[in-house]
Amino acid sequence: MFNAYLINDSFGDPGVYVEFKYRHSAILFDLGDLHNLNPRKLLKISHIFVSHTHMDHFIGFDYLLRVCLGRDRHISLFGPPGFHQQLENKISAYTWNLVENYMNDFALHVTEVHPERKIHRLYRCRTAFKPEMEEVYESYNGTLTESNFFTVKGEFLDHKIPCLAYRFEEKSRVNIKKNVLEEMGLPVGVWLVNLKDRILCGDPDDTPIRIWWKEEKRGTKETFVSLGELKETIVKVTPGQKITYITDAVYSEENARKIIELAEASDLLFIEATFLQEDADKAAQKYHLTAFQAGTLARMAGAKRISLFHFSPKYKGTPNLLVEEAMRAYNG
Ligand SMILES: [Zn+2]
Ligand SMILES: [Zn+2]
Repeated sequence: MFNAYLINDSFGDPGVYVEFKYRHSAILFDLGDLHNLNPRKLLKISHIFVSHTHMDHFIGFDYLLRVCLGRDRHISLFGPPGFHQQLENKISAYTWNLVENYMNDFALHVTEVHPERKIHRLYRCRTAFKPEMEEVYESYNGTLTESNFFTVKGEFLDHKIPCLAYRFEEKSRVNIKKNVLEEMGLPVGVWLVNLKDRILCGDPDDTPIRIWWKEEKRGTKETFVSLGELKETIVKVTPGQKITYITDAVYSEENARKIIELAEASDLLFIEATFLQEDADKAAQKYHLTAFQAGTLARMAGAKRISLFHFSPKYKGTPNLLVEEAMRAYNG
């Protein structure tokens, strides 16, 4: 279960924060201005997917680094060709002579994505962020990362430079039937998170699940029930949700095909709507989508909901025009 939302308003720097409700973790699409995310939220982030390194998508890297410094954090970052060098350029702007005394373990696992391969490098705070791992090459088939809980795929779009669009797919959703839980006299609590994890990891049915709760004066109480029994009684598994993040792309036949394919049947599609269709020539010059194009692509992809962003400042007083144009095209 998660919440996904734009970090800034439609005119602000692009970026989507996806927060996993019970896991104390989050992922982020794009690294623009992050000041709307407080440090507590930033410190939950495990994965960051950067579309490209234009300033409005990458300026937040320094702020993130600042917040994470001195903490035990490992963050995986993904970005387009040239990403390692650009990240190293940012890091090398600072002086790191005292970090070897830091006791904590802060590290960046950075994957540069190319059309046919992924290249990994590791940067540790304690070694002044000098790339310390041999580069690892891996073939790239569209999937960037996969865990027990989600998969993220990436597709290259043309923005005069390669720009990555992303699709996040939640694995199955494990829902708890609260009424049955109550009937069985079982408490709600953290043990349910463990139960969900065990189901998503595919653990065998005879796995004992510890159910525990606190009682006033009598302390912690516990009981054990098999995973199989809980699956049959209190659990309902439904398909996971899909989110797509599309920004900074020119409208071309090839981009349109890739966007429709990537965003197919998304539960929520975040898509840029930078210009009005009457300014389509400007959109083409700047390699961005118009609101009409965004709405049309969303409809053709069968997206269930859309969220629009990256509005040009040209429409500062009239954002509703962009929204209305996109929604008209989306609704057909
Ligand atoms: Zn751009
Ligand atoms: Zn941009």
